[in-house]
Amino acid sequence: MSSQHFANLGLSQSLLRAIGDAGYQIPTPIQSAAIPPALAGGDLIATAQTGTGKTAAFALPILERLSARSVKGPRAIRALVLTPTRELALQIDESLRVYGRHLRLRSTVLVGGVAQDPQVRALRQGADIVVATPGRLLDLIDQGFVALDRLETFVLDEADRMLDMGFVQAVRAIVRELPARRQTLFFSATISPAVASLASSMCRDPLTVSVAPPAAVPVNVEQRVMFVAKADKRSLLRDLLRDRGVTRALVFTRTKHGANGLARQLAQHGVNCDAIHANKSQNARQRALADFDGGLVKVLVATDIVARGIDVDGISHVINYDLPHEPEAYVHRIGRTARAGNLGVAVSLCDLEEIPLLRSIEKLTGTSLTVVDGHAYHDEAIAACSERTRTPAPAPKSRPRRGDFRSYRSAGRGRHASPR
Ligand code: AMP
Repeated sequence: MSSQHFANLGLSQSLLRAIGDAGYQIPTPIQSAAIPPALAGGDLIATAQTGTGKTAAFALPILERLSARSVKGPRAIRALVLTPTRELALQIDESLRVYGRHLRLRSTVLVGGVAQDPQVRALRQGADIVVATPGRLLDLIDQGFVALDRLETFVLDEADRMLDMGFVQAVRAIVRELPARRQTLFFSATISPAVASLASSMCRDPLTVSVAPPAAVPVNVEQRVMFVAKADKRSLLRDLLRDRGVTRALVFTRTKHGANGLARQLAQHGVNCDAIHANKSQNARQRALADFDGGLVKVLVATDIVARGIDVDGISHVINYDLPHEPEAYVHRIGRTARAGNLGVAVSLCDLEEIPLLRSIEKLTGTSLTVVDGHAYHDEAIAACSERTRTPAPAPKSRPRRGDFRSYRSAGRGRHASPR
């Protein structure tokens, strides 16, 4: 992280307040590098992975520039963020709402796999910012529902994945619809020759910024996975938390709603816990963190959006109740444990739908998570399905005693952190 402050980057008070509310204290390197030139209106080619804070690196300048200058007449689409997946689109929209909460700008999401009518209605009501995946956006453009003639800033997010997913023609077709005079912010985790050629076809005199990928998985974290049906996750989690070896646990859910529900349910079962996420006030969040730090609260249920703000020593366990959609978030999550040379345990509860997410995590980290199958809720069908999607030959499984969480610590070490 950079030592620079957000206040020095040229952002207005409304945005600084929202950043403070989100619990961010200092800009990440990509934010320090990208925000000032993006605010100045120039084109940018940024190399940054998910997990580096890249969303805010483009979202904050967009919000700042759009709010600084209002336009006459009805609302028009002035910024477009194109991203490869529905999940990323929803996350970006969520971030725009978090950072833009004190502004009057409106964003909307256009993604496939869901009915288009609500999206068309949202477009009719007017949006300043559109976050979209290429296929649905192109569809809606073709049907005449999207006017991009007043666009000021275009963001291409995860350009390398766009190419991998075969979206390059769709992206090029969308770019042809954009005004030639615009700002282009081009983000990619890697810059291959194909990505560089796409970038040069759409940027004008761009500034290039790049940051190191997120930290590798700490070696002193034991990474475990438990295969469990979605419906059994809560019961399994309660069993895990009952173990005396779990002294301070951080539990991750994918959504704020999920975090609240889970914390409520755990509390009903007598677990000393609290929830922390972006919808809670800064005060409520600081109180929850202080209670967790001081040992008043044993279990904290959190979402990724606040994960970076959690700097608490002595977290014995990080439990991924939901696997993250972005493998980089996994690295950030489990980095909350095993601080200061301590040993930490990261347990991922994986249901059937999450197997592809598990594979992405293993691919990114270059490690195979140790399968723990001796628990009361082990689902052999999910485990078998996971084995089928695993590329290298599987290693032997560990078999700790049923219900004894401590024994998981010593089990299956052979597979832990084995490079692929
Ligand atoms: P991204 O790379 O945009 O997916 O961001 C990764 C995570 O970092 C998200 O959970 C963000 O909410 C969080 N984040 C982004 N910028 C900061 C910051 N300056 N301080 C703390 N957390 C941040």
